[in-house]
Amino acid sequence: MSGRIRNCYKFLAMTTAKRPYLEALGIPLWLPRQTLAMHPQSVKSPPLADEPNHSGAARHPSLRKEGLAQDRPWPTTMDTDESDSPESLLPDDWAPPMDDDWEPVSELDEVDYATSQPTLSRATRIAGMNWEALIAEARQCQACGLCTTRTQVVFGVGNRRAEWLVIGEGPGADEDQQGEPFVGRAGKLLNPMLLAMGLKREQAYITNIVRCRPPDNREPTPEEAAQCRPFLERQMALIRPRIILAVGRIAAQNLLNTDTPIGKLRGQVHRFGPSRIPVVVIYHPAYLLRSPREKRKAWDDLRLARRTLAAEPVDPAWRCADL
Ligand code: URA
Repeated sequence: MSGRIRNCYKFLAMTTAKRPYLEALGIPLWLPRQTLAMHPQSVKSPPLADEPNHSGAARHPSLRKEGLAQDRPWPTTMDTDESDSPESLLPDDWAPPMDDDWEPVSELDEVDYATSQPTLSRATRIAGMNWEALIAEARQCQACGLCTTRTQVVFGVGNRRAEWLVIGEGPGADEDQQGEPFVGRAGKLLNPMLLAMGLKREQAYITNIVRCRPPDNREPTPEEAAQCRPFLERQMALIRPRIILAVGRIAAQNLLNTDTPIGKLRGQVHRFGPSRIPVVVIYHPAYLLRSPREKRKAWDDLRLARRTLAAEPVDPAWRCADL
């Protein structure tokens, strides 16, 4: 076996068996993508050129070489079987992956150290949840610092099969107290705005970019928005709205992944995701309360949204699919 391949095996063995200890020491670990695709129990130790294979008795080559801890066996899950050695599966010119092919472990699926079984990453788990699991997950979420100051999680409210998905920025003080989006002053203006389009509040589904109140009503940070994104995307996937109303600059910029000012985002129809759901941006009611002269533009945007929905083809297969 070439020294290069042996080193790679040593690395695989080390990362699988020692990862908890290294992580506890704060040493970041990186694994090659192709390794992470494997079940950790399929990672085998290298067959030793000068030592026969026997279950539980092989010595870690690096320890043996350095004369350290001779009596420590390989972990049993790493025991090798010459007949299915992965070395035999490697092409002769195989080389360890280069820098660009490596990904930080934390961004990929995790391993449950108790069982050595791979566990799904947070976003993947959330993407597979039903409503009840999703709400339970959000209620105990500690993915960002907002969990330390919230009174409660403000998950969302309304018709779970709504055609209209209304997305605001984040809960304020009233929402944080009551556990429901848009129940404070801004909500008291949002409701008649929706009604002016013929839409009762309870016919829509209303949620926010973040589900916990940012202290002192500050804007949510990009990191907080990113941590909350899997919840928003799963809500969207379950609801399958026909149109999204992005309420305010923060909602619009986060959804559309842009820094463009709201004055340029409003007044046109954007599209979201592979399903190309139409997105119409409107001024935030809190802004309209401060700048009532802008209400005219908000009304124009609501009419644009209504026209857009009316012109949007209905895809019954997509809307009615059982989730
Ligand atoms: N502002 C928002 O953007 N969302 C709320 O839920 C309340 C106020």
